[in-house]
Amino acid sequence: MTQVKSYAAQQADQSLAPFDLERRTPGPTDVEIEILYCGVCHSDIHTARNEWGGTMYPVVPGHEIVGKVSSVGSEVTKYKVGDTVGVGCFVDSCGHCNNCAEDLEQYCENGNSMTYNSMLQDKKTITYGGYSTHIVVTEKFVLRVSDKLPLEAVAPLLCAGITTYSPLKHWNVKAGDKVAVVGLGGLGHMAVKIAAAMGAEVTMLSRSPEKAKDADALGAHHFELTTAPENMKKMKGRFDIIIDTVSAQHDYNSYLSLLKTDGTMVLLGVPPQMEQIHAGSLIFGRKSLVGSLVGGIKETQEMLDFCAEHNIVSDVEVISIDKINEAYERTIAGDVHYRFVIDMASLKN
Ligand code: NAP
Ligand code: ZN
Repeated sequence: MTQVKSYAAQQADQSLAPFDLERRTPGPTDVEIEILYCGVCHSDIHTARNEWGGTMYPVVPGHEIVGKVSSVGSEVTKYKVGDTVGVGCFVDSCGHCNNCAEDLEQYCENGNSMTYNSMLQDKKTITYGGYSTHIVVTEKFVLRVSDKLPLEAVAPLLCAGITTYSPLKHWNVKAGDKVAVVGLGGLGHMAVKIAAAMGAEVTMLSRSPEKAKDADALGAHHFELTTAPENMKKMKGRFDIIIDTVSAQHDYNSYLSLLKTDGTMVLLGVPPQMEQIHAGSLIFGRKSLVGSLVGGIKETQEMLDFCAEHNIVSDVEVISIDKINEAYERTIAGDVHYRFVIDMASLKN
């Protein structure tokens, strides 16, 4: 075991603070990574504050990790010391169920090992995430990252990028499709960039009028305020697909009315509260309401390559780790442009 520095929440109502963490000594198939940057996802906040229930304290969040390989086990073949790599939302899975066999490790039937607040496959070792100087991950769950890109801006691709890329691919978004993205935050800004790169006509649906200019710069073709009833009315029946990234409770029925016949609304945001759905919102127009969870390892590598090819990275505000609690408050207030990323050098000093 090696002791490394990290930041942890000790309780739901406490700020994150320095915490010494034990990482396992790398085994034969393990890659040890010195973390350079880690993005701040709203899921980190939901978990640190136990908004979904089930948080195991102390919790070290962080699943948008980019770093350099600092050591490798004797059987590792894909990576060597010094390689630039990434780690996303999970660090292992059973490897033999139907979903793992189909490269859908995110839906592992035997329970995958999420990067934090989860159990390794021994079902007893708790996982700790990327707000930390180092992480040890089995080779199969490590991703290759081009070091030609600005690494701080690549880190958010490991969650926000794949979470939006995967449903856009799965529901076959293509040139000319009318795509709406709800909520301009970390996931939302990546959804706009990726959908636009796929050739879709992208409309940003936001409650924040000051974000209109940014939506345009990100590649959205239209911006509509969701707080104005006349806007919602005029968009009825307009979209092929709606990507909903909102982190707080909101009325799904009003967004379903914006879909065309046979349109699909994909839920990505996970508000802690329940929302009621009226059957009529789906029946009239044969509409689908679906959800999607991050993406498998193979698809994450495909997304990284797609983003490199299309020159897509995240718009980031780099912070030192002692600003993490402030960053949480600003994210909740919607004041994030459009992902906070921790410079992990600030933890090493
Ligand atoms: P974020 O950066 O905080 O963005 C969320 C956006 O939602 C905000 O910028 C805001 O956009 C909108 N919003 C927030 N509160 C709202 C409210 N009360 N009413 C209406 N709109 C509101 O969060 P994120 O990191 O993108 O994550 C978004 C959600 O996705 C979280 O629930 C997170 O846990 C979840 N998530 C899911 C997956 C998955 O695999 N499905 C993966 C990662 C994250 P506007 O100001 O433009 O309205
Ligand atoms: Zn995330």
